[in-house]
Amino acid sequence: MAHQWRGVIEEYRDRLPIGADDPVVTLGEGGTPLVEAPVLGERTGARVWVKVEGANPTGSFKDRGMTMAISNVAATDTRMVVCASTGNTSASAAAYAVRAGLSCAVVLPAGKIAAGKLAQAIVHGATLVAVDGNFDDCLRIARDLAEAYPVALVNSVNPYRLQGQKTAAFEVVDALGDAPDIHVLPVGNAGNISAYWMGYNEYAGRTTASSVDDTATRLAPVATRVPQMWGVQAEGAAPFVKGAPVEHPETVATAIRIGNPASWDYAVAARDDSGGWIDSVTDAQILDAQALLAAEVGVFVEPASAASVAGLLQAAEHHKVPAGARIVCTVTGNGLKDTATALGHTSVEPEVIAPTLEAAVAALGL
Ligand SMILES: *Cc1c(COP(=O)(O)O)cnc(C)c1O
Repeated sequence: MAHQWRGVIEEYRDRLPIGADDPVVTLGEGGTPLVEAPVLGERTGARVWVKVEGANPTGSFKDRGMTMAISNVAATDTRMVVCASTGNTSASAAAYAVRAGLSCAVVLPAGKIAAGKLAQAIVHGATLVAVDGNFDDCLRIARDLAEAYPVALVNSVNPYRLQGQKTAAFEVVDALGDAPDIHVLPVGNAGNISAYWMGYNEYAGRTTASSVDDTATRLAPVATRVPQMWGVQAEGAAPFVKGAPVEHPETVATAIRIGNPASWDYAVAARDDSGGWIDSVTDAQILDAQALLAAEVGVFVEPASAASVAGLLQAAEHHKVPAGARIVCTVTGNGLKDTATALGHTSVEPEVIAPTLEAAVAALGL
Protein backbone atom coordinates (compact mmCIF):
# COMPACT_ATOMS: atom_id res chain seq x y z
CA MET A 1 0.00 0.00 0.00
CA ALA A 2 1.24 3.47 -0.86
CA HIS A 3 2.78 5.28 2.08
CA GLN A 4 1.48 8.79 2.69
CA TRP A 5 4.34 11.05 3.80
CA ARG A 6 3.33 12.41 7.21
CA GLY A 7 5.32 15.66 7.38
CA VAL A 8 8.77 16.15 8.87
CA ILE A 9 7.75 16.01 12.54
CA GLU A 10 6.12 12.57 12.32
CA GLU A 11 8.80 11.23 9.95
CA TYR A 12 11.72 12.38 12.13
CA ARG A 13 10.10 12.80 15.55
CA ASP A 14 12.91 11.02 17.43
CA ARG A 15 15.38 13.62 16.17
CA LEU A 16 13.31 16.74 16.88
CA PRO A 17 12.66 18.64 20.13
CA ILE A 18 8.94 17.90 20.38
CA GLY A 19 7.11 16.05 23.12
CA ALA A 20 4.79 13.09 22.60
CA ASP A 21 1.76 15.17 23.68
CA ASP A 22 2.70 18.43 21.93
CA PRO A 23 0.41 19.64 19.12
CA VAL A 24 1.68 18.99 15.59
CA VAL A 25 0.76 21.61 12.99
CA THR A 26 1.59 20.18 9.58
CA LEU A 27 0.72 20.51 5.91
CA GLY A 28 2.68 17.38 4.99
CA GLU A 29 5.92 19.27 4.27
CA GLY A 30 9.20 17.53 3.36
CA GLY A 31 9.66 14.30 1.45
CA THR A 32 10.67 16.39 -1.55
CA PRO A 33 12.18 14.93 -4.74
CA LEU A 34 15.93 14.44 -5.09
CA VAL A 35 16.33 14.60 -8.87
CA GLU A 36 19.52 13.64 -10.66
CA ALA A 37 20.59 16.27 -13.20
CA PRO A 38 22.83 14.60 -15.83
CA VAL A 39 23.30 17.89 -17.68
CA LEU A 40 24.91 19.35 -14.55
CA GLY A 41 26.98 16.19 -14.16
CA GLU A 42 28.32 16.60 -17.70
CA ARG A 43 29.23 20.22 -17.12
CA THR A 44 31.00 19.60 -13.81
CA GLY A 45 32.51 16.11 -14.15
CA ALA A 46 30.58 15.08 -11.04
CA ARG A 47 27.27 13.35 -10.18
CA VAL A 48 24.75 16.06 -9.35
CA TRP A 49 21.29 15.93 -7.83
CA VAL A 50 18.89 18.79 -7.10
CA LYS A 51 16.76 18.70 -3.93
CA VAL A 52 13.53 20.23 -5.17
CA GLU A 53 12.25 22.23 -2.20
CA GLY A 54 9.73 24.06 -4.36
CA ALA A 55 7.64 20.87 -3.98
CA ASN A 56 6.82 21.78 -0.37
CA PRO A 57 3.20 22.79 0.46
CA THR A 58 3.78 26.55 0.12
CA GLY A 59 6.52 26.16 -2.48
CA SER A 60 9.71 26.60 -0.47
CA PHE A 61 11.84 24.91 2.19
CA LYS A 62 10.51 27.38 4.76
CA ASP A 63 7.68 24.91 5.47
CA ARG A 64 10.10 22.48 7.14
CA GLY A 65 10.99 25.04 9.76
CA MET A 66 7.51 26.50 10.01
CA THR A 67 5.87 23.21 11.04
CA MET A 68 8.21 23.15 14.06
CA ALA A 69 7.96 26.86 14.89
CA ILE A 70 4.16 27.01 14.61
CA SER A 71 3.66 23.71 16.47
CA ASN A 72 5.72 25.19 19.28
CA VAL A 73 3.62 28.38 19.38
CA ALA A 74 0.41 26.32 19.27
CA ALA A 75 1.44 24.72 22.57
CA THR A 76 1.47 28.16 24.26
CA ASP A 77 -1.11 30.89 24.99
CA THR A 78 0.25 33.18 22.27
CA ARG A 79 -2.35 33.75 19.55
CA MET A 80 -0.34 35.71 17.01
CA VAL A 81 2.89 35.17 15.10
CA VAL A 82 5.05 37.73 13.33
CA CYS A 83 7.80 37.44 10.77
CA ALA A 84 9.98 39.62 8.61
CA SER A 85 10.15 38.23 5.13
CA THR A 86 11.54 38.49 1.62
CA GLY A 87 8.36 36.58 0.68
CA ASN A 88 8.63 32.86 1.34
CA THR A 89 8.71 33.02 5.12
CA SER A 90 5.50 35.06 5.08
CA ALA A 91 3.82 32.65 2.65
CA SER A 92 4.71 29.74 4.90
CA ALA A 93 3.94 31.44 8.23
CA ALA A 94 0.56 32.60 6.91
CA ALA A 95 -0.42 29.08 5.78
CA TYR A 96 0.72 27.31 8.97
CA ALA A 97 -0.94 30.01 11.10
CA VAL A 98 -4.22 29.13 9.35
CA ARG A 99 -3.75 25.47 10.28
CA ALA A 100 -3.07 26.40 13.91
CA GLY A 101 -5.88 28.97 14.19
CA LEU A 102 -3.37 31.76 14.88
CA SER A 103 -3.25 35.22 13.35
CA CYS A 104 -0.19 36.21 11.39
CA ALA A 105 1.53 39.56 10.82
CA VAL A 106 4.20 39.91 8.16
CA VAL A 107 6.69 42.75 7.88
CA LEU A 108 7.92 43.14 4.31
CA PRO A 109 10.31 45.40 2.39
CA ALA A 110 7.95 47.56 0.26
CA GLY A 111 8.05 46.76 -3.47
CA LYS A 112 10.58 43.91 -3.13
CA ILE A 113 8.31 40.87 -2.84
CA ALA A 114 7.57 38.61 -5.83
CA ALA A 115 3.88 38.71 -6.81
CA GLY A 116 3.20 35.02 -6.13
CA LYS A 117 4.56 35.20 -2.59
CA LEU A 118 2.57 38.33 -1.80
CA ALA A 119 -0.55 36.59 -3.13
CA GLN A 120 0.07 33.66 -0.79
CA ALA A 121 0.30 35.85 2.32
CA ILE A 122 -2.90 37.65 1.25
CA VAL A 123 -5.01 34.56 0.48
CA HIS A 124 -3.99 32.98 3.79
CA GLY A 125 -5.27 36.06 5.59
CA ALA A 126 -2.05 37.52 6.99
CA THR A 127 -1.87 41.19 7.95
CA LEU A 128 0.77 42.87 5.82
CA VAL A 129 2.99 45.73 6.92
CA ALA A 130 5.15 47.15 4.12
CA VAL A 131 8.29 48.90 5.29
CA ASP A 132 10.21 51.59 3.44
CA GLY A 133 13.45 49.72 4.04
CA ASN A 134 15.15 46.37 3.35
CA PHE A 135 14.78 42.90 4.89
CA ASP A 136 17.26 43.69 7.64
CA ASP A 137 15.08 46.65 8.75
CA CYS A 138 12.03 44.37 8.71
CA LEU A 139 13.72 41.74 10.88
CA ARG A 140 14.76 44.38 13.41
CA ILE A 141 11.15 45.58 13.65
CA ALA A 142 9.75 42.04 13.92
CA ARG A 143 12.22 41.19 16.70
CA ASP A 144 11.34 44.34 18.62
CA LEU A 145 7.61 43.62 18.22
CA ALA A 146 8.02 40.10 19.59
CA GLU A 147 10.05 41.39 22.49
CA ALA A 148 7.51 43.97 23.66
CA TYR A 149 4.13 42.47 22.61
CA PRO A 150 2.40 39.06 22.94
CA VAL A 151 3.42 37.88 19.48
CA ALA A 152 5.82 35.03 18.66
CA LEU A 153 8.66 35.56 16.20
CA VAL A 154 8.86 32.78 13.57
CA ASN A 155 11.90 33.92 11.62
CA SER A 156 14.89 31.56 11.53
CA VAL A 157 16.32 33.23 14.65
CA ASN A 158 13.62 31.09 16.29
CA PRO A 159 15.63 27.91 17.03
CA TYR A 160 12.70 25.62 16.16
CA ARG A 161 12.96 26.77 12.55
CA LEU A 162 16.47 25.36 12.10
CA GLN A 163 15.42 22.17 13.88
CA GLY A 164 12.73 21.59 11.25
CA GLN A 165 14.94 22.62 8.35
CA LYS A 166 17.68 20.15 9.31
CA THR A 167 15.38 17.32 8.16
CA ALA A 168 16.28 18.09 4.53
CA ALA A 169 19.80 16.78 5.24
CA PHE A 170 18.26 13.61 6.73
CA GLU A 171 16.24 13.08 3.56
CA VAL A 172 19.32 13.46 1.35
CA VAL A 173 21.19 10.82 3.35
CA ASP A 174 18.14 8.55 3.40
CA ALA A 175 17.90 8.83 -0.41
CA LEU A 176 21.60 8.43 -1.26
CA GLY A 177 22.50 5.94 1.47
CA ASP A 178 25.14 8.28 2.96
CA ALA A 179 26.03 11.98 2.92
CA PRO A 180 27.13 13.40 -0.45
CA ASP A 181 30.68 14.75 -0.86
CA ILE A 182 29.47 18.30 -1.36
CA HIS A 183 26.23 20.14 -0.59
CA VAL A 184 25.61 23.46 -2.35
CA LEU A 185 22.94 25.95 -1.36
CA PRO A 186 22.01 29.63 -1.66
CA VAL A 187 22.75 31.77 1.38
CA GLY A 188 20.61 34.71 2.45
CA ASN A 189 19.87 34.99 6.15
CA ALA A 190 22.04 31.84 6.47
CA GLY A 191 19.57 29.75 8.48
CA ASN A 192 19.36 26.98 5.92
CA ILE A 193 23.08 26.31 5.50
CA SER A 194 23.29 26.19 9.31
CA ALA A 195 20.34 23.80 9.50
CA TYR A 196 21.73 21.41 6.87
CA TRP A 197 25.08 21.35 8.64
CA MET A 198 23.32 20.53 11.90
CA GLY A 199 21.30 17.78 10.22
CA TYR A 200 24.30 16.17 8.53
CA ASN A 201 26.26 16.22 11.77
CA GLU A 202 23.43 14.72 13.78
CA TYR A 203 22.94 11.93 11.24
CA ALA A 204 26.67 11.17 11.45
CA GLY A 205 26.54 11.04 15.27
CA ARG A 206 28.38 14.35 15.72
CA THR A 207 27.11 17.55 17.34
CA THR A 208 27.32 21.18 16.22
CA ALA A 209 27.08 24.55 17.94
CA SER A 210 23.53 25.01 16.65
CA SER A 211 22.15 21.80 18.20
CA VAL A 212 19.67 22.55 20.97
CA ASP A 213 19.36 18.99 22.20
CA ASP A 214 21.41 15.80 22.34
CA THR A 215 19.82 13.75 19.54
CA ALA A 216 23.10 13.51 17.69
CA THR A 217 24.73 11.53 20.43
CA ARG A 218 21.64 9.71 21.72
CA LEU A 219 20.78 7.87 18.49
CA ALA A 220 22.82 5.51 16.34
CA PRO A 221 24.57 7.25 13.42
CA VAL A 222 22.92 6.89 10.01
CA ALA A 223 25.65 8.51 7.90
CA THR A 224 29.36 7.68 8.01
CA ARG A 225 30.50 11.19 7.09
CA VAL A 226 29.50 14.81 6.50
CA PRO A 227 29.74 16.80 3.25
CA GLN A 228 31.62 19.97 2.46
CA MET A 229 29.15 22.87 2.64
CA TRP A 230 29.36 25.27 -0.30
CA GLY A 231 27.31 28.47 0.06
CA VAL A 232 26.40 30.82 -2.75
CA GLN A 233 25.41 34.47 -2.40
CA ALA A 234 24.37 37.06 -4.99
CA GLU A 235 27.16 39.48 -5.82
CA GLY A 236 25.14 42.51 -4.67
CA ALA A 237 24.23 40.86 -1.36
CA ALA A 238 27.34 38.93 -0.36
CA PRO A 239 28.26 39.80 3.23
CA PHE A 240 30.06 36.47 3.82
CA VAL A 241 32.27 37.03 0.79
CA LYS A 242 32.99 40.59 1.88
CA GLY A 243 33.46 39.54 5.52
CA ALA A 244 31.11 42.27 6.77
CA PRO A 245 27.43 43.28 6.53
CA VAL A 246 26.27 44.94 3.29
CA GLU A 247 24.21 48.06 3.93
CA HIS A 248 22.23 48.23 0.68
CA PRO A 249 21.88 44.65 -0.63
CA GLU A 250 20.63 44.40 -4.24
CA THR A 251 19.90 41.37 -6.42
CA VAL A 252 17.22 40.01 -8.74
CA ALA A 253 17.13 37.01 -6.37
CA THR A 254 14.92 38.71 -3.78
CA ALA A 255 14.88 35.72 -1.39
CA ILE A 256 18.60 36.22 -0.73
CA ARG A 257 18.59 40.02 -0.82
CA ILE A 258 19.92 40.23 2.74
CA GLY A 259 22.89 42.27 3.93
CA ASN A 260 23.16 41.31 7.60
CA PRO A 261 22.50 37.56 8.03
CA ALA A 262 21.05 36.53 11.39
CA SER A 263 22.77 33.11 11.48
CA TRP A 264 26.22 34.58 10.77
CA ASP A 265 28.25 32.53 13.26
CA TYR A 266 26.53 29.21 12.53
CA ALA A 267 27.07 29.69 8.79
CA VAL A 268 30.75 30.53 9.23
CA ALA A 269 31.08 27.40 11.39
CA ALA A 270 29.33 25.30 8.71
CA ARG A 271 31.69 26.67 6.05
CA ASP A 272 34.89 26.28 8.04
CA ASP A 273 34.20 23.07 9.96
CA SER A 274 33.15 21.31 6.76
CA GLY A 275 36.14 22.54 4.77
CA GLY A 276 33.80 24.35 2.38
CA TRP A 277 33.42 27.92 1.16
CA ILE A 278 30.92 30.72 0.50
CA ASP A 279 31.30 32.54 -2.82
CA SER A 280 29.15 34.87 -4.92
CA VAL A 281 27.69 34.87 -8.43
CA THR A 282 26.23 37.67 -10.56
CA ASP A 283 22.53 38.14 -11.27
CA ALA A 284 23.24 37.17 -14.90
CA GLN A 285 24.74 33.85 -13.76
CA ILE A 286 21.72 33.26 -11.52
CA LEU A 287 19.24 33.87 -14.36
CA ASP A 288 21.28 31.66 -16.73
CA ALA A 289 21.24 28.84 -14.17
CA GLN A 290 17.49 29.30 -13.68
CA ALA A 291 16.96 29.01 -17.44
CA LEU A 292 19.25 25.95 -17.65
CA LEU A 293 17.36 24.18 -14.86
CA ALA A 294 14.06 24.86 -16.59
CA ALA A 295 15.14 24.03 -20.14
CA GLU A 296 17.49 21.10 -19.53
CA VAL A 297 16.65 19.57 -16.15
CA GLY A 298 12.88 20.10 -16.17
CA VAL A 299 12.75 21.91 -12.84
CA PHE A 300 11.39 25.45 -12.60
CA VAL A 301 12.88 27.30 -9.64
CA GLU A 302 12.84 30.87 -8.43
CA PRO A 303 15.97 33.00 -8.98
CA ALA A 304 17.44 32.64 -5.46
CA SER A 305 17.25 28.85 -5.80
CA ALA A 306 19.28 28.91 -8.99
CA ALA A 307 22.16 30.57 -7.13
CA SER A 308 23.25 27.15 -5.85
CA VAL A 309 23.55 25.78 -9.38
CA ALA A 310 25.19 28.99 -10.65
CA GLY A 311 27.77 28.67 -7.87
CA LEU A 312 28.44 25.03 -8.74
CA LEU A 313 28.92 25.85 -12.44
CA GLN A 314 31.28 28.68 -11.51
CA ALA A 315 33.26 26.35 -9.27
CA ALA A 316 33.55 23.91 -12.18
CA GLU A 317 34.89 26.69 -14.40
CA HIS A 318 37.49 27.42 -11.74
CA HIS A 319 38.40 23.68 -11.58
CA LYS A 320 37.24 23.45 -7.97
CA VAL A 321 34.89 20.45 -8.47
CA PRO A 322 36.57 17.11 -7.70
CA ALA A 323 36.09 14.57 -10.52
CA GLY A 324 33.30 12.13 -9.82
CA ALA A 325 32.17 13.87 -6.61
CA ARG A 326 28.61 13.27 -5.43
CA ILE A 327 27.00 16.70 -5.18
CA VAL A 328 23.57 17.84 -4.03
CA CYS A 329 22.30 21.34 -4.85
CA THR A 330 19.30 22.56 -2.89
CA VAL A 331 16.91 24.46 -5.13
CA THR A 332 15.01 26.29 -2.46
CA GLY A 333 11.78 27.62 -3.97
CA ASN A 334 9.26 27.21 -6.79
CA GLY A 335 9.56 29.16 -10.03
CA LEU A 336 5.81 29.83 -10.10
CA LYS A 337 6.23 32.36 -7.30
CA ASP A 338 7.98 34.82 -9.59
CA THR A 339 7.01 34.28 -13.21
CA ALA A 340 7.71 37.91 -14.15
CA THR A 341 11.45 37.57 -13.50
CA ALA A 342 11.63 34.16 -15.18
CA LEU A 343 9.96 35.38 -18.36
CA GLY A 344 11.95 38.62 -18.48
CA HIS A 345 11.44 40.14 -21.91
CA THR A 346 10.00 36.94 -23.40
CA SER A 347 6.57 37.44 -24.96
CA VAL A 348 3.90 35.40 -23.18
CA GLU A 349 1.43 35.73 -26.07
CA PRO A 350 1.70 32.74 -28.42
CA GLU A 351 0.79 33.23 -32.08
CA VAL A 352 -2.99 32.87 -32.57
CA ILE A 353 -4.05 30.56 -35.41
CA ALA A 354 -7.31 29.53 -37.11
CA PRO A 355 -9.08 26.57 -35.39
CA THR A 356 -7.91 23.99 -37.94
CA LEU A 357 -5.41 21.11 -38.07
CA GLU A 358 -3.75 22.70 -41.09
CA ALA A 359 -3.07 25.95 -39.22
CA ALA A 360 -1.61 24.03 -36.24
CA VAL A 361 0.61 21.99 -38.59
CA ALA A 362 1.82 25.16 -40.29
CA ALA A 363 2.50 26.88 -36.95
CA LEU A 364 4.50 23.88 -35.72
CA GLY A 365 6.46 23.62 -38.98
CA LEU A 366 5.55 19.93 -39.38
C1 LIG B 1 14.68 31.89 2.52
C2 LIG B 1 15.18 31.51 1.16
C3 LIG B 1 16.55 31.44 0.85
C4 LIG B 1 17.61 31.81 1.83
O1 LIG B 1 17.70 30.96 2.92
P1 LIG B 1 18.42 31.43 4.27
O2 LIG B 1 18.12 30.43 5.25
O3 LIG B 1 17.85 32.78 4.58
O4 LIG B 1 19.89 31.55 3.93
C5 LIG B 1 16.93 31.02 -0.40
N1 LIG B 1 16.01 30.72 -1.34
C6 LIG B 1 14.69 30.78 -1.09
C7 LIG B 1 13.73 30.44 -2.17
C8 LIG B 1 14.24 31.18 0.15
O5 LIG B 1 12.91 31.26 0.38
